[in-house]
Amino acid sequence: EVRVRFAPSPTGFLHLGGLRTALYNYIFAQKHGGAFILRLEDTDQSRLVPGAAERIEDMLEWAGVLPDESPRRGGPFGPYLQSQRLELYEDVAKHLVEKGAAYYCFCSPQRLELLKKEALRNRQTPRYDNRCRHLTRQQVDSKLAQKQAPVIRFRLEDGVEPFEDLVYGWTKHEVAKVEGDPVILKTDGFPTYHLANVVDDHHMKISHILRGTEWLISTSKHLLMYKALGWKPPIFGHLPLLLNKDGSKLSKRQGDIFLEHFAERGYLPEALLDIVTNCGSGFIENRVGRTLRELISEFDVTRITTHSALIDLEKLPEFNRVHLLQKINSSEQREALVKHLKIQIEQTYGGQLSDQEVLQPEYIARILLLRKGHIASLQELLLPQYSYLWIRPSVSRDELLNVSAEVDTIIQLVSKLIDVDSANLTNETINTELKALQKKVKNTNYGTMMKVVRLVLSGQQKGPSVAEMMISLGPKEVCSRLQRVSC
Ligand code: GLU
Repeated sequence: EVRVRFAPSPTGFLHLGGLRTALYNYIFAQKHGGAFILRLEDTDQSRLVPGAAERIEDMLEWAGVLPDESPRRGGPFGPYLQSQRLELYEDVAKHLVEKGAAYYCFCSPQRLELLKKEALRNRQTPRYDNRCRHLTRQQVDSKLAQKQAPVIRFRLEDGVEPFEDLVYGWTKHEVAKVEGDPVILKTDGFPTYHLANVVDDHHMKISHILRGTEWLISTSKHLLMYKALGWKPPIFGHLPLLLNKDGSKLSKRQGDIFLEHFAERGYLPEALLDIVTNCGSGFIENRVGRTLRELISEFDVTRITTHSALIDLEKLPEFNRVHLLQKINSSEQREALVKHLKIQIEQTYGGQLSDQEVLQPEYIARILLLRKGHIASLQELLLPQYSYLWIRPSVSRDELLNVSAEVDTIIQLVSKLIDVDSANLTNETINTELKALQKKVKNTNYGTMMKVVRLVLSGQQKGPSVAEMMISLGPKEVCSRLQRVSC
C-alpha cells in the first residue's frame, strides 16, 4: 500500500516550495490509491512559530491538497504532531543504546564550542570528534549517577550502501567521513529531526518519501538508522530545487512566497498549482489550467528530472485569469465566486453602495459573466476603475458644465439612445450610435462628449470604455444616472 507524507516543521507558514512537496506527495498517493499524511515535525521547540501548525493545515485545505491523516483529521497512526510522541522516540533511542548503535554523550556545550572554534581556526568544517563513543559502561553509569544530563548520539558506521533514488538514481554519501556522530535525543528529552523522522516514517508505515533535494545528503544517515533498527526503509525520491526565475534561492524571508500572501490578493489556489507544476518536471507536458484531477492523471514520477525548477511568478495573473474564466463558466463554481465577491464588495464599499441591488447574486453573476476572460482576479473588480459598478457617482452639474456647455443636449440624446436600443446593447451598436449622435451636438467633439458621459456614469475621468460601462450597468441604471444630472 502506498503511504506518503508531507512533514513540514512549523517554523513558518506554508510557502510555494512546501506546496510543491505536498502536492507531489498528494498526487502520488491519489495516483496509486494510497494515503497522504500530514505530519508536523515540531521537535525544535526554539524555532516554533505560534499558530504555524494550524495555518499550514489551513492552507493545504485552501489549496485542495487534502491530507487523509493529519493533526486535525486524526488517523490510525496518530498523533501527527511529533511533540506528542516523545516517549516513542526516547524508547527507540534507548533501544539503540542497548544495541550499541547509539551512546550517551556528556560533552559540555563549552567543549563542543571549543571543538568548533579549533576547526574553524584550521579552516575545517566543525564536527564532533566522537569522544564519548569510547566511554566504558562504568564511566557512563557513574556520570548518570552524578545526574549529568546526557544527549544520545547515533554511531555513524563506515561503509554506507548506495540506494536508488527515484529521481537521482544510485546515490550514497559516506557520512561518517564528513560528519561526527549526530545527536538523536537532546537533554530535554526531545528527539532531533533525524531520529523522529525515521521513527515516524516507520511507525506510520510510509512507503515512499518525496521530499526536497536538500534532504538528499541526510538520506544515507537515515538508512544507517533503518539498518541499525532492523527496519525496512521506504523508497526515496528527492525533488529538485525550486528557484526564482533568475536562479536565485526562493527565500522564505521574502514573505511574498507564502500562500497567505497569494490568497489575500485574490489568487485562486489552482493558479498556484499551475505555478509549481509548470516550472519543472514530473508531468507529461507543461500545461496551464489543469484541475487537480488532470494533474493527477498527467503526473509521472519517472519524469521528474534533477534540473532545478524555476518559478515564474509573473505568469501568475495569466494563470489565474485562465482558472477564473473556467470557474465563471461553471454555474456551480460561479455561485461560490459570487458569494465571495459579495463579501468583498460589502467590505470595500459598505455604506457607499448605490443600493442593495448591486449585492443581488444575479447582478454580481452578470458582471462576472461580462468580465470573464478580461479580469485576472476577482479583486480587480474592487479597484477604483470598477467602483462605478457598486457605487453611484456624485457629479455636480457644474462639474459637467465645465467640460461642455452642451451637457443637457448630450444627456437627452444619450438617454434616448439607451431607451430605444436598450434590448440589444453591444459594444459595436453603442459605439456606432454614439458616433452618429455626436454629430447632433453643437460645438462638442466626440472626446468631450464621451468625457461627459463617462463622468455621469462613473464620476471618473478614466476607466473602462463608455460602452462597457453601459452594458455592465444595464439600461435602467444608465438612464437613472443620466436623469440625476439632467435639469
Ligand atoms: N521536517 C522536515 C522539513 O521541514 C522534513 C523533511 C522530510 O521530509 O524528511 O522539511
